[in-house]
Amino acid sequence: MSANLYDLLASRFPADRSKPCFLLSDGSAISYGELEAGAAQVAGRLVAEGVMPGDRVALQAEKSAEAIMVYLGVLKAGAVFLPLNPAYTASEVDYFLGDAEPKVFVTDPPAWVREAGSAAPLVAAVPRGAGDLASLIYTSGTTGRSKGAMLSHGALAANALALHEAWAFTPDDVLLHALPIFHVHGLFVALHCALLSGAPMVWLPKFTDAEVLAGLDRATVMMGVPTFYTRLLASPGFTRAKADGVRVFICGSAPLLPSTFAEFEERAGQRILERYGMSEAVIITTNPLEGDRIGGSVGYPLPGVELRIGGGEETGVIEIRGRSVFSAYWRMPEKTAEEFTADGFFITGDVGHRDADGRVWISGRAKDLIISGGYNVYPKEVELVLDELAGVIESAVVGVPHRDFGEGVVAVVMGEGDEAAMIAEARRQLAAYKAPKRIVFVDELPRNAMGKVQKNLLRDRFAGLFET
Ligand code: AMP
Repeated sequence: MSANLYDLLASRFPADRSKPCFLLSDGSAISYGELEAGAAQVAGRLVAEGVMPGDRVALQAEKSAEAIMVYLGVLKAGAVFLPLNPAYTASEVDYFLGDAEPKVFVTDPPAWVREAGSAAPLVAAVPRGAGDLASLIYTSGTTGRSKGAMLSHGALAANALALHEAWAFTPDDVLLHALPIFHVHGLFVALHCALLSGAPMVWLPKFTDAEVLAGLDRATVMMGVPTFYTRLLASPGFTRAKADGVRVFICGSAPLLPSTFAEFEERAGQRILERYGMSEAVIITTNPLEGDRIGGSVGYPLPGVELRIGGGEETGVIEIRGRSVFSAYWRMPEKTAEEFTADGFFITGDVGHRDADGRVWISGRAKDLIISGGYNVYPKEVELVLDELAGVIESAVVGVPHRDFGEGVVAVVMGEGDEAAMIAEARRQLAAYKAPKRIVFVDELPRNAMGKVQKNLLRDRFAGLFET
């Protein structure tokens, strides 16, 4: 039997194909039947243009329902989907195109789907094995060249099925989808849960307060990055009544601040369900749907994911193995070999520990670890202390070159306060070597499209802070 992911998804589309898949802001809808027909046209056109199984098809475009028709059509044709952030510049795109060598590059999905109407639609999906490549996702790597994580049909199917069950999706759900679709969160995590239920999505091109607030009136599930939740909390229109129809608010792609978790519970009467994932493995751990969701923990490994802490200490780099883990980095055999252990675990680069209950707690990226005067400083531990101080909205702690200590601890604080008093308070709560030597105040922390604080930019910006 073919393991083409398209077949699995399409097998769950509602029997009544007139049911809506995309609920658009203008009040119109695009049905499952239209999605299916669009995907068949796209697949037909790709085959007619000579795209063979395993060939890459790149897409760089704003979010649209037609972009999803292209995604599903690529799967159906047995080709490999390569999504690119529309914010990438021409020279960045050149790198990806040169590295992945796609046969087709789509930049205007609505026009592409329309023009595909002249090709004969592809009726049956091209058979694929579970290990065959379905998608190439370039990591938003902040050091070195961006790497293409190779995700197979089997890996994506395993993760989607596990999530669908863990979060108990049904055809009665309505998913609020305001995430970008060039990243695994919006493209796989969110989309696949809805498609596997044949459920509709409130389909928003991006997060705007007004559209999200309106969408919450129809939605039963919301998925977002932490900034979605801080923006909701900053909006006076977000009331408990707005959250009442939503059975679960799911969050990930960047750490959720404990203050956001607590404020959200107070305002909405619900605990955000935080989960942890990455391009190379889609979702790795999740808090439970039933049972305690603990702020600050990313929960338990998803069924099918083996997780351990490397290095023999209580806290160390998280290593994972399982069917949903990527196969390799595209055309980088040495990099791939470096990042897997001899017994096949992927070394995630995230540092964390497991508590007595088996819950996973993340303390940051290994490359963000600061070594000051020979001592290890985990930025998260310092950030948690600073974030509790009056005037601090959020902090980001980085290490920058320091003549005596190698690296000096610097806290970049969104908010305001008295530097000396805050350092003194941090020294009261933390060992002296962990306390920041300097605190700088900023209006905003730099973030990428998924809301992740870009610590590399902060390290660059403050690299000269201790040079006098
Ligand atoms: P990406 O491959 O762009 O999705 O980035 C993956 C990285 O995001 C992970 O390796 C983590 O460092 C981070 N991340 C994702 N979800 C969480 C979370 N819930 N808490 C903390 N970090 C997270």
